[in-house]
Amino acid sequence: MEPLVYRVAPGSKVDLAAIDPRSNGNLERAVAEAEFDALTTEIDDLQELLYGAGTHSLLVIMQGMDTSGKDGTVRKVFSKVSPLGSYVYSFKVPTEEELSHDFLWRVHRVTPRRGLIGIFNRSHYEDVLVVRVHGLVPEPVWRARYRMINDFEHLLASSNTIILKFFLHISREEQEERLLAREKDVEKAWKLSAGDWREREHWDDYMAAYTEALERCSTADAPWHIVPADRKWFRNYAVARTVVETLRPYAQDWLAYLGKVGEQRLAELRAYRAEGER
Ligand code: ADP
Repeated sequence: MEPLVYRVAPGSKVDLAAIDPRSNGNLERAVAEAEFDALTTEIDDLQELLYGAGTHSLLVIMQGMDTSGKDGTVRKVFSKVSPLGSYVYSFKVPTEEELSHDFLWRVHRVTPRRGLIGIFNRSHYEDVLVVRVHGLVPEPVWRARYRMINDFEHLLASSNTIILKFFLHISREEQEERLLAREKDVEKAWKLSAGDWREREHWDDYMAAYTEALERCSTADAPWHIVPADRKWFRNYAVARTVVETLRPYAQDWLAYLGKVGEQRLAELRAYRAEGER
């Protein structure tokens, strides 16, 4: 039985070549799609509880090569969540101001406050991926970052941030097809960039960089999940299910907490009304 997603155990080795990007987890598409609909509704329900309880936040980090579907996954998986309860932040090439600070400065300020789901489209991992592949800083500088990232994520987790990290694993062949499809379709061509083809030449270097990030930065607090992503329906299903399975265990506590708050509010209201009668 193929797993749905490959959760990287802390300290374990990762062999990306051994994980088939075309995997469908032995699932039938129609079954997965039907269940996906229920999962997205549940994500909305869970977000409402997360918001109501206000004790935790959820940070979802999406990484993957160009065309791996970071945007598309977010759009589908969180399609039913209220815009009031979630936001997406896309990390671009750092500005001059951002580069004048430590690499986590721009990240820390956009982490989700309690009650919210914050989704990162790319993240601080770019600082050990594109930065490493292109030698944008000397090796000792990016090497030191793995530990800093673990410490940073530990800090967030200590403050009740639930962290989920997804690596959308596509094959080189699938990427080529998706890039060519964009070229053929005028309506999709806005997504094209010559840079995507240029980056593709560094595929093996990126895989090496991803492998090390996955191995060194998968912790109990902030685990990495490798998602076979050549099939979009499977990718969406796998991510949605992981989100639900991660949040479900909290739901009972959140409900209990909300129940207590509700009782307290009702008691306050009764006291207020009684005062009026006096
Ligand atoms: P998309 O995420 O949709 O591909 P863009 O085409 O604007 O959006 O790509 C964002 C670019 O910013 C990517 O090429 C990415 O590698 C780059 N980038 C993000 N963070 C950093 C960083 N810390 N240092 C250098 N480049 C970065």
